[in-house]
Amino acid sequence: MDTIGVLTSGGDAPGMNAAIRAVVRQAISKGKKVKGIKRGYEGLLQSEIIDMDARTVADIIQKGGTILQTARCPEFRTIEGQEKAAKICREHGIDGIVVIGGDGSFAGAKCLADQGINTIGIPGTIDLDIACTEYTIGFDTAINTAMEAIDKVRDTSYSHERVSIIEVMGRNAGYIALWCGIANGAEDILLPETYDYDEQKLINNIIEKRKKGKTHHIIINAEGIGHSTSMAKRIEAATGVETRATILGYMQRGGSPTCTDRVHASMMGAYAVDLLCNGKSNRVVGYKGDEYVDFDITEALAMKKDIPEYQCQISKALALL
Ligand code: ADP
Repeated sequence: MDTIGVLTSGGDAPGMNAAIRAVVRQAISKGKKVKGIKRGYEGLLQSEIIDMDARTVADIIQKGGTILQTARCPEFRTIEGQEKAAKICREHGIDGIVVIGGDGSFAGAKCLADQGINTIGIPGTIDLDIACTEYTIGFDTAINTAMEAIDKVRDTSYSHERVSIIEVMGRNAGYIALWCGIANGAEDILLPETYDYDEQKLINNIIEKRKKGKTHHIIINAEGIGHSTSMAKRIEAATGVETRATILGYMQRGGSPTCTDRVHASMMGAYAVDLLCNGKSNRVVGYKGDEYVDFDITEALAMKKDIPEYQCQISKALALL
């Protein structure tokens, strides 16, 4: 292993830069050369490859987004695209690649490993929806960003005695919604994993809480359920209570990473380089039981994880007035 490449792929997440920095510096500390691949697999297929040294990654640990940028690349899903990508890696002397992204990006990394390029995946997504790991880079920053925004909506919701539906990201996973729901003391949390689409229950809960003297009502709605604006209209019509929807959107993906994100990203980046230097390939880095671990990509992609049931129960219990 002489030259290590690094790329970010799929959705961006705060902390990706900290991971890039760790890959570059750990590789250099082990005597390797490093190449940065811009715009994920798309940039790889376009040979958008730059030399990186310790200086290239100075002053980025605190920055959101990804300096290498990211993209989605349909061509890389084809065998021809994968063969071309491996050929380009060889032309640039890249023997191993660290891929920072989500499950889709890891599926891509496996294809590249099948073409003889050593690959290691690092979980970078705000959604926490990767089964082989208890932590994904970006989650902590995203939930803190969302929590602060929801606090602000709560202030005005209280003043105007409104129902507020706040839609948070998470794709088809409810982790961001669940964490914010607990952290923001929401009256209702709608998770794709558990929501039964019975709006009448929501309406009854709002009416019941009003009767008990609660003058505002926060509903955290997960992206995987969506339709917050139409839901707000229906709830207002049924309850007679002014109801507003706020969709937080992409603000949750940006911003300076928290300490937790910077540390996990730094550790996972360095761990990925260690794996490559030890001759490993086709692995995904994870964090489990206070340790950094790694799994075969195919096994990692086949794993499932559930939304924690106890956390769901407690979120409901604490919303009682
Ligand atoms: P994420 O990594 O966040 O899950 P995507 O699912 O969009 O994001 O995947 C990012 C990129 O990874 C895709 O644009 C594609 O180039 C590549 N990719 C995804 N799935 C596969 C697959 N099954 N085979 C090969 N490449 C894939």
